[in-house]
Amino acid sequence: MKEDKINEKKANEKKTNQKKELICIVCPIGCHIEAELDPEGNILSLSGNSCGRGAVYAKAELTNPVRVLTSTVKITDGLYRRLPVITSQAIPKDRIFDVMKEINKVQVCAPVKINDIVIGDVCGLGVDIISSRSMESVNP
Ligand code: SF4
Repeated sequence: MKEDKINEKKANEKKTNQKKELICIVCPIGCHIEAELDPEGNILSLSGNSCGRGAVYAKAELTNPVRVLTSTVKITDGLYRRLPVITSQAIPKDRIFDVMKEINKVQVCAPVKINDIVIGDVCGLGVDIISSRSMESVNP
């Protein structure tokens, strides 16, 4: 009877806990990290990381994944028709589409210098969209 309950509990754990696999991108070794999460997404265990930096990376990736976003915006009078831009810091992964919508609305005019702010505080995230290269005007 007691054994049945233990088996039932183990079966429920298997149904509810989930495993996720990640590749650590902190260094070129690229360790394969396996994480076990409870149904609420709390990390129960991590394995496969060869160092503590991998654990820090995996915890951040599993709880609050962020990305540096690169894209382009329309530019008039520039050498090219698009200006490369980048977020000044990493942004939450689940806000990338919102930020892309704002980027797609923008048109700038040459000349532009590298690191010029193209959109300040995009989507209220406290992060700017900045130019990632300079572009002279072709109509000086
Ligand atoms: S866990 Fe450590 S050794 Fe492995 S890829 Fe990440 S940083 Fe490199």
